[in-house]
Amino acid sequence: MTSHDTRKCTKCGAQTEWTLTSVEMTDEQSSVTVNGVPAMACPRCGEEYIPGLQAMSLSKAAEEIFSILRTTQPAEAVA
Ligand SMILES: [Zn+2]
Repeated sequence: MTSHDTRKCTKCGAQTEWTLTSVEMTDEQSSVTVNGVPAMACPRCGEEYIPGLQAMSLSKAAEEIFSILRTTQPAEAVA
């Protein structure tokens, strides 16, 4: 599985390692946090890289959740 190969950090050039991270996506009124997202993390500078396909599906899923939330407005908004 070539998908398990890690790439080099574009900031400092160190070899990244697979780790699990959490990603938070927000819109004007809501936020979605996904924990346990596989990402390549740089052991030297801490930069994290989420594979493109995953980043794409995460943001797609978040958009879907946000659009559902927007159609369900509470009768009286709780500030
Ligand atoms: Zn780095």
